[in-house]
Amino acid sequence: MESDEFRKRGHGIVEWIARYYETVEQYPVKSRLAPGSVKNALPETAPAESESFDLFLRDFDEIIMPGITHWQSPNFFAYFPANSSPPSVLAEMLTSALGAQCMIWETSPAAAELEERMMEWLRDMTGLSPEFEGVIQDSASSATLVALITAREKVTQYRSNMEGLSGMGRMRVYASRQAHSSVEKGAGVSGIGRDNLVRIEVNDDYSIDTAALRKAMDTDISAGYIPCCVVATLGTTGTTAVDSLRAVGEICREKNIWLHVDGAMGGTALLLPEMRWMADGMEYVDSIVFNPHKWMFTNFDCSAYFVRDAAALIHTFEILPEYLKTRTRGMVNDYRDWGIPLGRRFRALKLWAVIRTYGVERLQAMIREHIRLAGMLAGLIEAEKNFFLMAPVPLTTVCFRYKPEGISEEDANRLNEQITHTLNDGGRIYLTHTKIDGIYILRMVTSQTNVSEKHVLQAWEMIKECASALSSKYGAVDIY
Ligand SMILES: *Cc1c(COP(=O)(O)O)cnc(C)c1O
Repeated sequence: MESDEFRKRGHGIVEWIARYYETVEQYPVKSRLAPGSVKNALPETAPAESESFDLFLRDFDEIIMPGITHWQSPNFFAYFPANSSPPSVLAEMLTSALGAQCMIWETSPAAAELEERMMEWLRDMTGLSPEFEGVIQDSASSATLVALITAREKVTQYRSNMEGLSGMGRMRVYASRQAHSSVEKGAGVSGIGRDNLVRIEVNDDYSIDTAALRKAMDTDISAGYIPCCVVATLGTTGTTAVDSLRAVGEICREKNIWLHVDGAMGGTALLLPEMRWMADGMEYVDSIVFNPHKWMFTNFDCSAYFVRDAAALIHTFEILPEYLKTRTRGMVNDYRDWGIPLGRRFRALKLWAVIRTYGVERLQAMIREHIRLAGMLAGLIEAEKNFFLMAPVPLTTVCFRYKPEGISEEDANRLNEQITHTLNDGGRIYLTHTKIDGIYILRMVTSQTNVSEKHVLQAWEMIKECASALSSKYGAVDIY
């Protein structure tokens, strides 16, 4: 593609993006395509000869767009968000234009130093102690894996990387029953073993039961296991439960065990002084991850991983082949030593663009508003007959259920499942569910970049109407 055509196409695509953002609410939020339909619309073989870029754009509109779920729609209330924002998109264009591999300082000093500074900004914005050093990882899953491997190395005196795990004893990792699946994946991938992840019972608010944690650890120690790491969660995926870092941390300190905090979603709330109660006990924490690519308006991928003992992290991951030896070693951060991949994208640029464009105060205001909207929705649910709040709402996830009088638990499960599918198939909103102790729970997250009170109120009206319409099928009394 020649420069002139690139310029013309580039302007066109920016125009496309602007229009998309202006009209995103008009798309069905959840893609309605049947399995296989996109693949079947694509040629089985690659084109032998050059095609016009027009054809690519045409097929993007006709084949790809119908198969997209619109995560940037303010009516997206599903999962946790994957927020983008205009400054993030623009910076990402520059990153892809530069195409720099930011594996070591020398391969782009600006990328390494901007990343170092951005992690300091984020550390201070979230009130973390200056003892923490940060690095951008591709995902919270990777960051948690990195934490588990570092903890494993520490507990084996840095021998397991060299010698392998046989003969290292049977290590244990602890997390609550509500912890994210990435903890189990990490326990497996790190060689500790999924069977050696001990799932701890939770309290009524779904936070980790620390008495049970202590008991599980003591039982393991007397049986000859080696406790290696505890993963506490700030904002579990199901209900955004918040584990007590102080209570967990005291146990970890006493037994000299690595404490990693998975704050993938909830960590962003630490930008707000009024949410810093979640950080009580942070002095016990060895590492923490949160995702600006979820709730800080920075498009995927961008996970902020902070570690207190950066030397332990580097000791675990550094490897120095001849071709990567430099004259600046030790004077600068070579981030390939701070995680698993060698090659790294220049992800700090979009973070810089987002933080500067919004400013800390505007970011705080948006996050605070999202939390207010969740509280407002929770209040509406509590005030409504036959709707029940199923978990506390410390952040922006509202878990609830519709159960008209006189229907069984099983029928209520089926009814709520049907409500979810009916609403999502309708295309005007998208929400997802969780299941706790066999109970099907609707789950609505009010954290999309552009969500406003109007969107939440509209969604709530739709939910009530849908529930009422469907409940008649179950012989329940219509509440309207
Ligand atoms: C989303 C989430 C993860 C996984 O995040 P990725 O960045 O997609 O790997 C891990 N833990 C929690 C609590 C999450 O909400």
